Amino acid sequence: MSLFDKFEKTASLYKELLGAGRDPFGVSMEEMKGPMRAIVKGKEIVLAGTNNYLGLTFEDDAINAAKRALEEQGTGTTGSRFANGTYAGHREIESALAEFLGFSNCVVFSTGYQANLGAIAALVQPPNDVILLDADSHACLYDGCQLSGAQTIRFHHNSPESLDKRLSRLDPSITGKLVCIEGMYSMFGDVAPVKEFVEVAHKHGAYLYLDEAHSFGVYGENGRGVAEAEGLMDQVDFYSGTFSKSLCSIGGFVASNHPELEYLRFSSRPYMFTASPSPANIAAATATLKHISADASLRERLWSNAKRIHSAFQQLGFDYCAPVGPVIAVRLPDKQTAFLAWNFLMDNGVYVNLAIPPGTPNAASILRLSVSAAHTTKDLDIIVQAYTALAENFQSALVTTPA
Ligand code: PMP
Repeated sequence: MSLFDKFEKTASLYKELLGAGRDPFGVSMEEMKGPMRAIVKGKEIVLAGTNNYLGLTFEDDAINAAKRALEEQGTGTTGSRFANGTYAGHREIESALAEFLGFSNCVVFSTGYQANLGAIAALVQPPNDVILLDADSHACLYDGCQLSGAQTIRFHHNSPESLDKRLSRLDPSITGKLVCIEGMYSMFGDVAPVKEFVEVAHKHGAYLYLDEAHSFGVYGENGRGVAEAEGLMDQVDFYSGTFSKSLCSIGGFVASNHPELEYLRFSSRPYMFTASPSPANIAAATATLKHISADASLRERLWSNAKRIHSAFQQLGFDYCAPVGPVIAVRLPDKQTAFLAWNFLMDNGVYVNLAIPPGTPNAASILRLSVSAAHTTKDLDIIVQAYTALAENFQSALVTTPA
C-alpha cells in the first residue's frame, strides 16, 4: 500500500485528457490583452470562461487605487484580521458593502471560500444545530458544513418542497437550523427560487444563508443579486459574496442584520488564522464597488450580450443547462466528447471552462461559457462562430438537428 495509490484514478483521467490535446486545467494566460483577451501558447484567444461578468479588471480607477494602496500601505498586511491585519481600508469596504446591500453589518474575509467556511462553521455547532444544504452547492459551502462538525442534511437542488420535507422531519432537540443556498449557480447558471426558500426556512424557524458569489453585480436593479431581483434583501439572514468575480479582486464577505454577526470575528477560524487581503486587493475592490454602484449600464451591457449569445445559440441544437443568463452551459454526452469539444473551441480561438465529474452536479460533462459586459461585438461573433462550427463537427453532442 502506498500513500500515492489513491492518485491512480486521477492519473489515468489526466492521461486520457492529455490524449485529447491540451490540458484544460493547466491553461496559462501568457499575456493579458485586456479583460477578455489573452495570449495562450502564442495565440490570442477570447476569454469566455471567467467570472469577470462586468469586465472591470482593467479599469483605471481600481488600478490607480491599488497602486496608491501599494505605495502607501505596502505589499501585504502580514497578519490576520483578528491581529494586525485590519487596516482602515478593510473597515471601509465592510461599511461600503453593508451600505450597498442594506445590511447593518458586514465581515470581510481573505477569500469567498473562507467567508463561507468561516461563517458556517462559526454559526452552526454540534450537537444541537443542523445545516440544510442545497445538493448542488459549491465546495466551500460543503467544506463549511464539514468544518462545523454539525449534522448536514442535503435537499434536492432548487427544491423548496424537498427542504420543507426535511425540516418537517427534524428531531425536536434540534434548536439551531441554517439553510444554505446560492443565488445563481456557477456551473449551470440556474437561479434559486429564493422567495420560496425564505418562506419555507422561516416557517420552520430556520435562518437563510444565501451565497450570491456569482449573482452579486449581475442580478437586481442595483446589482445586489437574486435577492434584490426578487425584492427580498431584508429577509435574507446571512448574505455572502466574493471579491473574485464582479468585484475583480480577492476577498470575501458575509453581511447580515443580525448583530451577532460581529461574533464571527472572535469565533471563526478562517477569519482569525489566515492573513487578511492585501491593501491593494482591498483598494481595488472598493473602487470597483463604487464603479458598480454608479454605473447601471454595465449590467445592461452584460444582459444584452448574454441575450445575443443565447439567441444565436438557439439555432445550434445543444443541450443547454439553464434559461438565458450570463452563464451558458452546454451539456455534452460524456467526458471524452467534452475534452475534444473544449480543444475544438480553443483551436477556434475561444476559451471556456470544461467541467467534468466528479466536480459537477448530476455527473454532467459541460462546457461553461460565461458572458461579460466587456465582450465586444467582435468577441461575441468569434464565440458564436466557434460554437456554430462545434455544432457542425460534433453532431453527437446535439439534442436537436441545427436549423
Ligand atoms: N461561492 C461560490 C458559489 C463560488 O462559486 C466560489 C468560487 N468560485 C466561491 C464562493 C469562493 O470564492 P473565492 O474565489 O473568493 O474564494
